[in-house]
Amino acid sequence: MRPARALIDLDALRHNYRLARQLHGGKAFAVVKANAYGHGAITCARALAAEADGYAVAFLDEALALHAAGIKAPILLLEGVFDTAELVMAARYGLWPVVHHAAQVEMIEKTPLPAPLRAWIKVNSGMNRAGFLPAAVRAVWKRLVVSGKVKDCGFMTHFARADEPDVATTAEQIRVFDAATRSLPGERSLANSGAILAWPDAYRHWARPGIMLYGADPVPGGGHGLLPVMTLESQVVAVRDLAAGDPLGYGARFVAPRPMRVGLVAMGYADGYPRAAPDHTPVVVGNQGATLVGRVSMDMLTVDLTDLPEAGIGSVVELWGGQVSVNDIAQSVGTISYELLCNVKRVDFVWLGDEA
Ligand SMILES: *Cc1c(COP(=O)(O)O)cnc(C)c1O
Repeated sequence: MRPARALIDLDALRHNYRLARQLHGGKAFAVVKANAYGHGAITCARALAAEADGYAVAFLDEALALHAAGIKAPILLLEGVFDTAELVMAARYGLWPVVHHAAQVEMIEKTPLPAPLRAWIKVNSGMNRAGFLPAAVRAVWKRLVVSGKVKDCGFMTHFARADEPDVATTAEQIRVFDAATRSLPGERSLANSGAILAWPDAYRHWARPGIMLYGADPVPGGGHGLLPVMTLESQVVAVRDLAAGDPLGYGARFVAPRPMRVGLVAMGYADGYPRAAPDHTPVVVGNQGATLVGRVSMDMLTVDLTDLPEAGIGSVVELWGGQVSVNDIAQSVGTISYELLCNVKRVDFVWLGDEA
């Protein structure tokens, strides 16, 4: 069997959820959208079932998959519903849609629903991506109440820069949110991972931790005690000697500067390892530091084993995990851990720790 694997540590996931909940206080939606950031939504949701107050996903189908898998806690739909059929389904299954634009309010007013809805009004407090302007929030709340279809209304907002502790915009967003919702009844939810770790002023009834559950600290500097959940690993499957001047791989991006020993690893960009990774991106081979050399191809990549004489066919290669930080790899290719984790596919997924 091809040795490319993603090991998913469910005990680490639980540790990180507890940490998020404990830091924030109150309740926490475990954000498991996008297949739990590439970690397997159903298995991760089940692993948290004994303690998660609720879950958050992007849209209806992601929620229905959790429901079908036996998840009983409330599920927040972060993008809300896209049409009236979805709205009816959300009401039928007791899902909690976010309401972030006028068409969704009209849909609720016009559509007969099989059960009262618990909805979350999203306030645009300054990110300007989704949500109602502060001045419109009270009127939206009123319309939902008057519709008779919403039994309970919460208020939420999302931060553009919560992962930047030294930037004042998060404090300003909190102020705008509080002013827009002042004296309106209902629960509040402000904090994503960045805010849980860096902005205690954003703590309200519910937190929405995503990336921190998976152990990738979004705040530079880290040090919050998160445990990495995914180890992306494979093995050396062939070894070759290069003479000084020999090119290696596509485009001859790397040319051996000296006689070298190169290991071929069964992992490529079709598995989610970024093709943009430059020469000398760190990897760990058999628990020793080594580096990538040559362009990453679809199914394979190559690593420098010149200084690791004991490494050879069968040596385990960690691409990221407990020894190689996914944040470091993301930084070296100009992206964020979220994108790398979401993109992992095709490899063999192995979940470690109790599922429930
Ligand atoms: C994805 C998402 C989150 C989780 O964000 P992290 O940075 O991963 O913690 C929280 N709230 C909303 C609205 C989201 O879309």
